[in-house]
Amino acid sequence: MRNPIEFDSNSRTCRSAGAVMALAMLWVAGGCAALHHDERLHSTLWVQTSAEYAISTEQVYSMAIQGLAAALEDPDWNVVLERNDQDRELPPAIIVDIDETILNNAGHAARSIIARKGFVAEFWRAWVREVAAPAVPGAVDYLRYAQAMGITVFFISNRLADLEEPTRENLEAVGCPLRTDIDVVLLREEKPGWGVDKSARRAWVAERFRVLQIIGDDLRDFVHVPEDSDEGARVEIALSHHRRWGEGWYMLPNPIYGGWEEALMKGEYAEHVSPLERKFKHLQTQ
Ligand SMILES: [Mg+2]
Repeated sequence: MRNPIEFDSNSRTCRSAGAVMALAMLWVAGGCAALHHDERLHSTLWVQTSAEYAISTEQVYSMAIQGLAAALEDPDWNVVLERNDQDRELPPAIIVDIDETILNNAGHAARSIIARKGFVAEFWRAWVREVAAPAVPGAVDYLRYAQAMGITVFFISNRLADLEEPTRENLEAVGCPLRTDIDVVLLREEKPGWGVDKSARRAWVAERFRVLQIIGDDLRDFVHVPEDSDEGARVEIALSHHRRWGEGWYMLPNPIYGGWEEALMKGEYAEHVSPLERKFKHLQTQ
């Protein structure tokens, strides 16, 4: 591609015009940089401002409510993969994730964009300690409905265990039912073996309860996903369980972050490659 400054080397006028054009391009580019190009802007605004996001989550929770009575009445209904064989007599429970499933942290994403930060642990922890996250639309009505049916609600989240107190406070502040006679908020590193992968915590619940439904915003909220899975492998895992979606497993939208993004960026966070450049290469034109 020609450099506009060299467009016509025989004409001083054209060279000048080319130089002006180049300066204009630099000015536009500089303006964009001043606005700070953060790819989370679009997705965060969608979550915070669109009717479509709120309707999407309400729809998912409405579907879950509609399926709950039949699941409760069927003693063979158990949707957790880590179930054991002796579970027909176990009391009923549901498992939900917390972030972007029950609590909406788009405000934290907005602050990160404005502060020009990626994910910073201390920034996140300060947000959690504020106890200010609103509920995801539809979530609290669903949890209350389940509680009224005598179903125990378990929260399995990768928030770290030392954030349990503000996490509980935030769940209570938005109106979530929380049993206090047993621990229903199961956080990362709360017990040995409770790492990022949630399988061990699902198994812990499955030993004690019959799990009627699972709701989350990330594939890993439902099933073990090997760490090195690329986007194709993740889709294959999801489709291998296609009968469960909408039938005990309910997925909420999260366009801001999640396992889907980690799969695209895996091993490619090298300093010389910008996230945008890397993501651009994953675009599919057909
Ligand atoms: Mg989540």
